[in-house]
Amino acid sequence: HAKHAFLESVCFYDAGIGETVRKRRKLAEALRNALEHDQLGIYYQVQMSLSSGEVRGYEALLRWTHPQFGSIPPSEFIPVAEENGLVTPLGAWVLRRACQDAATWASPCRVAVNVSAVQFMDANLPRLVQEVLIETGLPPHRLELELTETALIRDKTRSLHIMRQIKALGVGVALDDFGSGYSSLETLRSYPFDKIKLDRAFVEGIERDRQSKAIVRAVLTLGKSLDIPVLAEGIETEDQIAILRAEGCDEGQGFLLGRPSPNVELATQGGPAPWEMIGYPSGHHRSV
Ligand code: C2E
Ligand code: MG
Ligand code: MG
Ligand code: MG
Repeated sequence: HAKHAFLESVCFYDAGIGETVRKRRKLAEALRNALEHDQLGIYYQVQMSLSSGEVRGYEALLRWTHPQFGSIPPSEFIPVAEENGLVTPLGAWVLRRACQDAATWASPCRVAVNVSAVQFMDANLPRLVQEVLIETGLPPHRLELELTETALIRDKTRSLHIMRQIKALGVGVALDDFGSGYSSLETLRSYPFDKIKLDRAFVEGIERDRQSKAIVRAVLTLGKSLDIPVLAEGIETEDQIAILRAEGCDEGQGFLLGRPSPNVELATQGGPAPWEMIGYPSGHHRSV
């Protein structure tokens, strides 16, 4: 989609190096300001069991609402934040807020928090996670961190060490956007992931092309052999969910099941319709 007007005005698309630096500095300032002035918020998107329709958890998705320029998507400001070190305080803020929120939920389900590459390679992350768990009282098994491959490949020894420390706390670690990287299988072989999140691109094609369906099936088989549950991302249609269920996919997430939303009650009102249509006991999945 089109670049956001705000980023266009502060970012790096046109001018020379001097201009680039100036504009990035301006964006960094705006972000820092956003952190201090409560322009950041978290939306939650439901993750459900595809076999029972039960809520398994919610993914925390960062939102920035700029007073002038409106909502700016994370895909546009996270990369910039990664380059100027801001992603560390930003990530800490998200982690703390998500754990605080989850501790207040009526149902003791999971909260999934995205961790960027830069944040993950910070040796202080395990200690931060531990502090936040103690501070918020959230049981470790209710927290899951979502990592992408790019978070890991830079330094295998280091990333494996950090991942083991996090897992030793009892916190789960999911491999996000599986299949979209260039060495996904090697990543799975080398790191002790607790979950595979199958990239939306494969779910998107599942009704149309044989290739996507074959790949989804292979990933599900792989997950079963490795004893790692698979969650399908970006489920938008009833056909997609029907195929994924038939193929034995463990969990799902997507607009059909619930849009990201500022609180979990709203996030769970995504739709009894698909569940009723495929025969789940009604209301079962709404119990948060
Ligand atoms: P992700 O972790 O893979 O998150 C899923 C993205 O897909 C979210 O976009 C979500 O709104 C979107 N999505 C969910 N269901 C559907 C669907 O059915 N169809 C379509 N088309 N999209 C769907 P969002 O919130 O814009 O986030 C984009 C990416 O930004 C995330 O991808 C994640 O990598 C990153 N991100 C979001 N929040 C954070 C955060 O707190 N920290 C870090 N480091 N990264 C974050
Ligand atoms: Mg994610
Ligand atoms: Mg993803
Ligand atoms: Mg993604």
